[in-house]
Amino acid sequence: MYSSVISKIEKAHRYAREPERIKFQAFSASFQGSHDEYTVTLSDTGWHCSCHTFETHLAGTCSHIMAIQHILGGMLPDNARYDPVEVQAVN
Ligand SMILES: [Zn+2]
Repeated sequence: MYSSVISKIEKAHRYAREPERIKFQAFSASFQGSHDEYTVTLSDTGWHCSCHTFETHLAGTCSHIMAIQHILGGMLPDNARYDPVEVQAVN
């Protein structure tokens, strides 16, 4: 029993050093911006942010989403990652 728990802990430590094993399928967080707190979500329909920029610029992204994309990096599915080329094309 005890050795079984230890082997699980050791495996967890190994997994924790291999974040590429993890892919967020959905995500929700509050984000304290410079002026207000926003809600950033990732779902089947893509990213969403409650900030004014996201709602009005129709670029499908904003600085809050981009920051989270940087933090989560390879733990995001390919179609949810930060893509500066695509962002430049929209702007
Ligand atoms: Zn935003």
